[in-house]
Amino acid sequence: MPLKATDPDVRFWSRVEIRDPDECWPWRGYRDRKGYGRVMVQRGVGHPGWRSVPAGRFALYLCHGVWPTQALHLCDNPPCCNPLHLYDGTAWDNSHDALERGRLVIDYRHRGRFHPRPT
Ligand SMILES: [Zn+2]
Repeated sequence: MPLKATDPDVRFWSRVEIRDPDECWPWRGYRDRKGYGRVMVQRGVGHPGWRSVPAGRFALYLCHGVWPTQALHLCDNPPCCNPLHLYDGTAWDNSHDALERGRLVIDYRHRGRFHPRPT
C-alpha cells in the first residue's frame, strides 16, 4: 500500500536527513536544549491534545511498531534518528541480536522503514 504524505511516518522521515545506513541521520526539526529532536504526536483515542516526544523514540516506534520506553544512542549524537544508531534500552537483546546478524535492512522506498530480510 503506497504511503500518503499525511501518514505520520512519512511526515516524520521527511524531517530527517536520511543518509547512508552507517552515517548519522540528523533531525531537521525542533531540537531541545540538549540537542535531541522533538516531535509532536497526538495523544490518541480518549486523550485529546498533543505532546512532544523525543524524535529518536518515534523513529524506533516507526521501525519496530513498539513504543520504546527509552531510545538510547549508540553514536552519542543527540539529533541522530538513524534507527541503526538507536536502541530501546528495555529491548536491547532482541534489537541488538537482529542488528548483529544483519537481518534488518532499510527499504529506501519507504524511507527508513525496516523489513526482515528473507533468508
Ligand atoms: Zn547516529
